[in-house]
Amino acid sequence: MSKNATDLNEGATPIGAIGADINIASNGNHTIKNSKSIDIWSKCLAFIKDNVAAQVFKIWFQPIQALEYSNKELTLSVPSQFYYEWIEEHYYDLMRATIKKIIGEGASLQYKIVFDDTLSHEKAYIKMPGLKKKASENQNHIPFEPVSINKDNFPTNLNSRYSFDNFIAGESNQLACSAAKAVAENPGKTRFNPLVIYGGPGLGKTHLIQAIGNHITENNPRLRVYYITSDMFTNEFVNSIKDNKVSDFVNFYRSIDVLMVDDIQFFAGKEATQNNFFHTFNVLYQAGKQIILTSDKAPRELADVDDRLISRFQWGLNADVQSPDFELRMAILLRKSLDEGIELPSDVIEYIARNVKTSVRELEGALIGLIAKVTLDRKPMTLELAKEVVYGSKTKDNQPVTIDEIKNLVSEYYKLNIKDIESKSRKHEIALARQTCMYLAKKFTTSSLKTIGSHFGNRDHSTVLHSCQTIDNYIVTDKKVKNSIETFMKQLKKES
Ligand code: ADP
Ligand code: MG
Repeated sequence: MSKNATDLNEGATPIGAIGADINIASNGNHTIKNSKSIDIWSKCLAFIKDNVAAQVFKIWFQPIQALEYSNKELTLSVPSQFYYEWIEEHYYDLMRATIKKIIGEGASLQYKIVFDDTLSHEKAYIKMPGLKKKASENQNHIPFEPVSINKDNFPTNLNSRYSFDNFIAGESNQLACSAAKAVAENPGKTRFNPLVIYGGPGLGKTHLIQAIGNHITENNPRLRVYYITSDMFTNEFVNSIKDNKVSDFVNFYRSIDVLMVDDIQFFAGKEATQNNFFHTFNVLYQAGKQIILTSDKAPRELADVDDRLISRFQWGLNADVQSPDFELRMAILLRKSLDEGIELPSDVIEYIARNVKTSVRELEGALIGLIAKVTLDRKPMTLELAKEVVYGSKTKDNQPVTIDEIKNLVSEYYKLNIKDIESKSRKHEIALARQTCMYLAKKFTTSSLKTIGSHFGNRDHSTVLHSCQTIDNYIVTDKKVKNSIETFMKQLKKES
């Protein structure tokens, strides 16, 4: 039975951003849903359901509807541009495997994005190709057959989604961002060699170094640019030993013009890999090649990494990225929502910016959660919804509370610097904040008293215990402290 397109559009929220290169294929009234497509898509869904988490299935796959099927091409309707990109970006392999399994060889996919045509007040569709070849598609994971690789298909391992254009700079990442741009303009020719970008998770390190790589491949296509994580490097090295191909491995790395190694902290304790990397580093450095690294801590603080390497890591520039401040969080939310074609009310932006603080990744998570809710549950974009999403993401997977989170929370509440809290100061308000932190750390983390003490200026376990008792006493005797503790407990979402 066929339905007309307007019916099909039930459930579609017209929030898709419409890029300039999209052609409007047909207006809704001409698109007839055929039953064959429905049949095929329901088989696909059954397969997909077995391969993704229930929540993912519900959010991303259930709302997709089948529209047409002919010549092995399945056309699906999706509720927005964002949705389409999300599926293509995150479930590309799954979609490809699915249609190949259900339809067979030669199967192809097409999407239609539903939106409201503001002139005719009718639903309309924008046609988008499905399963676009990803940039990384033809990048073979084990590349080190240097002789056979010509420049055209050199496996850079880069993801084209990371660029300088979509990286938003602020005070917390200014130095790293400027240095990255300088290196991207003149690889191997600045003082920033190696360039090491370090800082906590989700703060844009991978984004920045990949942006450098993408910039260089665009402007100097002849350079051999190679991105790899330290884990992949280790694996390749181990495999090369296993397969008796160490010299190929070594030659490959020495042929690179711009080498990016992500997350070098995972070299810790891997002596043979470090040794190999040390020699690679020296050869490249001496040949004036650019080396770019990231790490979760400053090179000088890396544990179990050879001193020779650490000293080399410090030859160039070590630039840190810190948690984004409020202004940067606002700017990132504004920009990312615009990129998704969504206009967020200012109170919603501000609420998220005030409450999601630790990393850009978390900000993105909150935004995507919000967009998914608006798109799928067709809820209005309100402050209430934002609160629901932010609350949900904080309790998600029962993520353990960290001592750093506690420090952030308490320092902000008492308007103190974290450094003061960690200091030896005995000033009442500082000591109270410190004791509060220790009390909360004991309650909400699994850290031992000793570990907790080490986070607060290396205090011993008896001091931590004493602090906890002090707060326990205050809770009974001091209403102000009692209230503050209750507030913290609520924020840490684990109140008993
Ligand atoms: P890290 O490597 O430091 O853990 P990532 O580079 O993977 O972090 O960043 C996490 C996410 O946040 C990515 O999606 C990235 O694109 C985004 N991101 C991080 N910093 C910024 C920024 N300043 N502007 C725009 N997006 C950012
Ligand atoms: Mg990273």
